[in-house]
Amino acid sequence: RQRLSRPDRTRVFTTSNQKGGVGKTTTTVNLAAAMARAGMRVMVVDIDPQGNASTALNVPHSSEVASVYDVLLDEMEIHDVVQDAPDVDNLQVVPATIELAGAEIELVSLVAREQRLAKALDRYFAWREEQGQERLDYVFIDCPPSLGLLTVNAFVAAVEVLIPIQAEYYALEGLSQLLKNVQMIQKHLNPRLQLTTILLTMFDSRTNLAVQVAEEVREHFPKELLQTAIPRNVRISEAPSYQQTVLTYDPSSVGAAAYREAAAEIAKRGAPVPLD
Ligand code: ADP
Ligand code: MG
Repeated sequence: RQRLSRPDRTRVFTTSNQKGGVGKTTTTVNLAAAMARAGMRVMVVDIDPQGNASTALNVPHSSEVASVYDVLLDEMEIHDVVQDAPDVDNLQVVPATIELAGAEIELVSLVAREQRLAKALDRYFAWREEQGQERLDYVFIDCPPSLGLLTVNAFVAAVEVLIPIQAEYYALEGLSQLLKNVQMIQKHLNPRLQLTTILLTMFDSRTNLAVQVAEEVREHFPKELLQTAIPRNVRISEAPSYQQTVLTYDPSSVGAAAYREAAAEIAKRGAPVPLD
């Protein structure tokens, strides 16, 4: 099993792309599991009302379960709602329930509506310290495919933006819009936010189009694009129906190997130089 060295501070990522179906959730849960299995202390925050990350990590998230919704509405603390992922050591999950779908609207009238997750995370980090628990190494926030208040909360809480890209024709077009959003957040809400990581997902090196798109992304984002691309792999797509990540469902698959390699690359690059 691979071991990774711990970052010198907690690295908080948001996995974002306003397109659905590009591999955000798959990337969040598999990177998180790969990191945790390599000895990192990891937490996933599911902020998508679909709760796909909670499902894939085998964490209960029916509507009566305490969740990120209660945290965003300031009714509970993260330490009240966080659960251990049952199948992966060192991995915790703040689950999302379907109630979260209403939060987009309920948040509008609340004070500091964009900062709620950021503040809750800060309180949670402080709480862990008080409890004598070790610092987390990685936090991954899994976003819904839209730029509403939920995604904005994730952008404000994070330091690093991780963009999964499916190598296809319109990928780059969506990327420039996403970059504008990141810049807008940097300017108005979170000056620490940086796009640090781009990961090609469902990559098929046999198609010219995929290879072309990859080259174009590399040209524009030579520092951000990971060397590792995640191939299209049936084991990756099967795992969620067994409430598993591919790391536990089929650790010897090429999909699992690719996510381990991506995790190692992210760890090796280390935390970005702070902007503020
Ligand atoms: P998003 O969170 O961006 O909406 P998902 O992570 O849910 O996207 O992925 C969309 C679909 O593609 C899911 O059914 C998932 O299982 C599948 N998928 C994601 N990555 C891969 C891959 N590398 N190989 C095969 N299927 C994949
Ligand atoms: Mg998703």
